[in-house]
Parts: sequence; C-alpha cells; structure tokens
Amino acid sequence: MSDNVEQVIIIGSGPAGLTAGLYTARSEMKPLLFTGSEIGGQVSLTMEVENYPGFPDGITGPELIQRMQTQAERFGLRVVVDTVTEVQLDNQPFVIKTQSGKEYLSKSLILSTGARPRRLGVKGETELTGRGVSYCATCDGFFFRGKEVAVVGGGDAAIEEAIFLTKHVNKVKVIHRRNQLRAHQALQQRAFGNEKFEFIWDTVVTAINGDQRVSSVSLQNLATGEESEMPIDGVFVYIGHIPNSKLFEGQLDMDDHGYLITDDCMRTSVPGVYAAGEIQDSHFQQVATSVGQGCAAALEVERFVAELEDRAYPGDAGPNAPEEFGENGA
Ligand code: NAP
Repeated sequence: MSDNVEQVIIIGSGPAGLTAGLYTARSEMKPLLFTGSEIGGQVSLTMEVENYPGFPDGITGPELIQRMQTQAERFGLRVVVDTVTEVQLDNQPFVIKTQSGKEYLSKSLILSTGARPRRLGVKGETELTGRGVSYCATCDGFFFRGKEVAVVGGGDAAIEEAIFLTKHVNKVKVIHRRNQLRAHQALQQRAFGNEKFEFIWDTVVTAINGDQRVSSVSLQNLATGEESEMPIDGVFVYIGHIPNSKLFEGQLDMDDHGYLITDDCMRTSVPGVYAAGEIQDSHFQQVATSVGQGCAAALEVERFVAELEDRAYPGDAGPNAPEEFGENGA
C-alpha cells in the first residue's frame, strides 16, 4: 500500500475517540482524528463531571476534553477540525471523505461519533429552539437567571442538569411521563431536597408555545387524560439520545435503534472497523466506560494493522516472529 494510506483514522473527538488517539499515538500508528462539528462530543456540554476517576473535586467537561486532547497530541495524535461526510468500507484501504472536500485512505478505522439528544417531536419545538427551547443547560442556563424553566425527562441527565439549572433560575419544573424517576438515588435525593424543584408527574408535553420566545407548554396528564397549559420561560429537553450512525447505514450492522453492533473487542461487522463510546453503547454511556472502550478499540486496531502488514504485534509473537520471541512476544 502506498505511503498516503493512514494506519488508523478515528472519527469523533469525545472521550472514546481521544483515548483511542492516545493509545494509537503511543504505539506510533500516527493516528489522524476528525473532530466533527462538536469538538469533545457531549461531555463538552457538561458543566461538572463528578464521576470520572482521578478528579476528586470534579472537573468541567471542556477542561477534561482539553486535557485528553493535549495528552494525546503530546504523543503525536493529529487532530483535524473537519467532518466526515462519507465512508466506503467495502474494500481495503477504507475511503473517508470530508466536508472540506478531501479524501483519505486508511487501513483501519475507529468510529466514535457518539450520540445526540433526542427531540420531543412536538409542535413549536423546532421553531423555538434557541428561543427558550434548549438541550444544553450548561450552555444556556445563564440566560434564564431569575426565571422559571421546565426540564423534560426523568433520567440521570434530566435531574443532573436540572440541579445545575437551580444555580441560575428561580424554579425548575421537572415534567416526567411516569411517577417515578429513572435517575440514580444520589441524584434523586439532591433533587427532592432542593426547594427550587417542583415535579409534574405522569405528564407529557404536547406543544411548546410562544411567539418570539417560549411562553408556555401544553401538557397532558397520562393518568387522568387532563390537558392544561402552563406558563414557562424555557424548556430543557433530556429524554435520551440518538446514535450518530447515519454515515454507516447499509455498511455496518446496527440494532433497531441505530447503535452499531460490536463484539467484546469493539469489532464491528467489517474487519478493520472498530467502534467505541456511545455510538455502540446504549447502556452505560459514561465518560469512564467510553474511555475504556476507546482504549480497547485502539489495542485491537494495533493488532489488526500488525496482522495486515504481516508483522508481529507486541502483545503476541505473530506469524513471522523470530524464534527467540517469548510467549508474550517480549
Ligand atoms: P435515559 O436514562 O434514557 O432517560 C431518558 C428519560 O427520558 C427517561 O426518564 C424517559 O422516561 C424519558 N423519556 C424518553 N423518551 C421520552 C419521550 N418521548 N417523552 C417524554 N419522556 C421521555 O437518558 P439520559 O438521562 O440521557 O441518560 C442516558 C445514559 O447516560 C444513562 O445510562 C445514564 O445513566 C447516563 N448518564 C449518567 C450520568 C451520571 O452518571 N452522572 C449523567 C447523565 C447521563 P422513562 O423513565 O419513563 O423511560
């Protein structure tokens, strides 16, 4: 293969992609990483990461991402601010095309394109996004100082971001379709003990209303069927995620929700293509698990490329290893 064929290209710049970048850079694969439009992925939108080990006082999402990038670049990761628009996975080397009109070839790929917030899909949501409807409390909470906002959802994200919003707003009304939160106990306790919280149970939003800005939400109580309208200044939606896998449709196996299917070694259905982080994980979705998956994908990619190039992988002797190689290739 010619010199312009990369050993590994990583698509996506969240914790999974940057960890894969660190590991493949340290094994001198000269990785190339495309950031996509949202550098750092969803964690960059998180104000406080309290459950990533090694940071006893917590760390902001943007700072954590910046540190991961700096660490990987120190070992030679090349980070390119560009978005991949097409991949061709049917032949080796794989072809990658980007928004800037460039084309790249690579022997292996690590896909870490993550997931994006799910939308409610109700009247007014699209028109009023950026005018009171938001999917990012960290980005927009400040603009609601002294106001009343609704948070839709009952999972970890909804409650965590609602707690963050109480720093700015007078009241957070959590609208949840059931009468029990999905969020873990520690978060629930913090929310129930916070006087700025109000819970509206068994209820869904049927429309978001307003002329230039959000002024109210239409609600329906699922237990009684009763419909009502509630005045509100903002609506923050946290009802789960949709994987960013459209690019791979028809080329890689996915589940019914569009998550890429991988095995224990992060392999997708095409040899040489690996996936890590939320693009293939609908279950854990933690920074710590994404980091672990990015690491695993990188280790497997090293092995794959070594075998493709018919040379020994440091972790095992390989087919052409000299006799003095020990059992572990040491
Ligand atoms: P999630 O756990 O899937 O929760 C989504 C919430 O939205 C659920 O309460 C769900 O209701 C509700 N919902 C879904 N579709 C809806 C609809 N169409 N209309 C109204 N409500 C709807 O999603 P998440 O909170 O984004 O969390 C995703 C993953 O990330 C989870 O594994 C979570 O543990 C993790 N996470 C962890 C942390 C942390 O550890 N600090 C922070 C954020 C996220 P039901 O409960 O009725 O299903």
